[in-house]
Amino acid sequence: MATKKMKEQARKVLKDVFGYDVFRPMQEEIVCNLLDGKDAFVLMPTGGGKSICYQIPAIIREGTGIVVSPLISLMKDQVDALTACGVKAAYYNSSLKAAEAKDVLERFEAGQLDLLYVAPERLLSKSFLAKLEKLKLSMFAIDEAHCVSQWGHDFRPEYVRLGELREIFPDVPMLALTATADEHTREDISDRLQLAKAKRFVASFDRPNIRYLVAEKRQPLTQILQFLDGWPNASGVIYCLSRKRVEDLAVNLQRHGIRAAAYHAGIPGRSRERVQDDFLRDRVKVIVATIAFGMGVDKPNVRFVIHHDLPKSIESYYQETGRAGRDGLESEALMLYGSGDVNLVRRLIENVENIDQRRVEVHKLNSMVAFSEALTCRRRVLLGYFGEALDQPCGNCDICLDPPATYDATEFAEVALQCVREVKGDYGMGYIVDVLRGSVNARIRENKHDKLKTHGAGDDLNADEWTSILRQLVHHGYFVQDVSRRAAMLPTKKAERIGLTGEPIMLAKYQPGFRRHLKRLGATRDEPLFKKLVALREEIAEREDLPPHVVFSDVSLTEMAQRKPVSDQELRGISGVGEHKLEAFGEAFIEAISKHVETTDGKTTKNDGKEIPMLIAKGPGLNETQTYTLAQLRKEGLTLSEIAAEQGVSEATILKHFVAIIRAGQYIDVPALIGKDFDTIMAELDDADPYASLSEIKRDLSVDLDNDMFRLVLAWREGIGVA
Ligand code: ADP
Ligand code: ZN
Repeated sequence: MATKKMKEQARKVLKDVFGYDVFRPMQEEIVCNLLDGKDAFVLMPTGGGKSICYQIPAIIREGTGIVVSPLISLMKDQVDALTACGVKAAYYNSSLKAAEAKDVLERFEAGQLDLLYVAPERLLSKSFLAKLEKLKLSMFAIDEAHCVSQWGHDFRPEYVRLGELREIFPDVPMLALTATADEHTREDISDRLQLAKAKRFVASFDRPNIRYLVAEKRQPLTQILQFLDGWPNASGVIYCLSRKRVEDLAVNLQRHGIRAAAYHAGIPGRSRERVQDDFLRDRVKVIVATIAFGMGVDKPNVRFVIHHDLPKSIESYYQETGRAGRDGLESEALMLYGSGDVNLVRRLIENVENIDQRRVEVHKLNSMVAFSEALTCRRRVLLGYFGEALDQPCGNCDICLDPPATYDATEFAEVALQCVREVKGDYGMGYIVDVLRGSVNARIRENKHDKLKTHGAGDDLNADEWTSILRQLVHHGYFVQDVSRRAAMLPTKKAERIGLTGEPIMLAKYQPGFRRHLKRLGATRDEPLFKKLVALREEIAEREDLPPHVVFSDVSLTEMAQRKPVSDQELRGISGVGEHKLEAFGEAFIEAISKHVETTDGKTTKNDGKEIPMLIAKGPGLNETQTYTLAQLRKEGLTLSEIAAEQGVSEATILKHFVAIIRAGQYIDVPALIGKDFDTIMAELDDADPYASLSEIKRDLSVDLDNDMFRLVLAWREGIGVA
């Protein structure tokens, strides 16, 4: 039984250590259940606040809490965050040097740790288990518990043996946590971890702070740039289906001045780690990735997730979009949806040999298509897929915010049907649109389709409008696109009824582009103050070698920029300010806020929202001369040769500085530096033989570059750092 005393204890730790006033739904019950020594199985979406569910009991209960986590990078983040709150935590995994590992074990054995994060294979080694049996343990927490299941999306063989823990340590309460929404996987986890009797806590899987948007994919790069315009300086992830697309898009974004980096499984491990780290530390703002990116990154302030291509399934879509907005602040998930992608996936599925598997794949694809083409609340469709009902339309998706107007399109449907019948043969949607619009391209003339009655019959609509109509007619079942016949448009039985039943065919009006109705994030916060606080946070993070969000989250800074606390007591009232952080960072923030309030009379100035910060203060990873070069470039606007002359060194030396500057995540306008040949060089590098050595690649370029300039171009292409 959860006693009143337990609740009081739990609330006190929540406030004093983590700086939060109230528990989120289910957290308190879960904490008390564990304080009571009982097992639990926690199903909570990403960002729901799972960590606190075991961290608080581990702090309160006697002994050390053992946390099993699949990823080394996550362990480090969690331990950093806990340490910043004054909690005695450590991790034990293969990334530690021998001396460090020894130190951790000593602290553990001396009973000095509240929490110890361990990789599963370490935990289950004989020697470690023997140690555990001699020590006082407060609980086991199995984070990312779906890794134990082969059904799930992230099976890890080393998780399988965790089921043994229940037998070896019958008296230590165990908690399994996952954000998987899939029922199959949930059952499997419970079996494998022997948690059939554990109490289950199932939170709603709705992520109300994520706004779902779907836009027709037309010019993805332009659409994405337009979208990014609405999120200046925000962190986000863009998912693409192939490595090639990832790389192309990353380079394109960089050319448009976005601090973007590419991430996929083909990039060597060390570079990938660096990209992750740069993202976590806000040096890189936008990650362009294949689905390989995500699990290892626990960044709370990801403001948007974009799907450049169709996700594999609703499950993947939910998981991937779920990486936005873990901190609970407004976030957006944008999917660019194109029928070309659907056809591509259909073709791939047709090649699947196994019939059952093919059926599953078809079903997954159809659900994804249905979601994308929904004309009802997206959140309803999404949660409905996982068996959760939503009473009301959500009010925070593109459909709710901007319900599509419909109109009687019967006449258009008639013309389209007539045209498809007239062309007789395997012609795709694009061709039909061309005929309707009266195009006289070579193919149409060759086929004599410029003589048809319907040729030009639809020239009062533009091509986008016609495409939209034809697509919807396909969605409504009047036509099919036969994949085996190059996506030919074929009328179905239902098409025979077009125009005959007297019942109008209502279609959604075509809307060019996509509209956004974004209540701007932090509309009420003092934006200049917020910026100052962000800069201060960055400075402290740099000094303490921590990711900025570990110092204070965006939520905390937003609240500070709204309420402007100028005393310890007031600062305590800000979400995320616990006693330890108050002690460590409070003074600096109070000083910054007081100074701001004095100079502005506390008036809130309007935010221009567009300004790109000029990061000149000691660039991360730069030495003094490099920093000086950067300042000359940025502040004084000197050219390469001017900087070299001014410093009395060769241009080659300055180019080396430039490379370091780019590597450190700062912007240098390399395209301008190279001039008109830039695009040619990029294209040739794209086409270069992936196995060729750098000197071979350089030799084959049609443009002559000296070594330092070449290295600069490569650094730029690596995608690290463009402001
Ligand atoms: P999950 O592991 O479920 O994805 P986290 O444990 O990382 O979620 O928590 C998500 C965010 O919510 C973190 O920034 C965390 O500090 C914050 N958080 C958790 N519980 C609370 C709470 N009771 N009040 C305010 N913020 C909270
Ligand atoms: Zn909705």
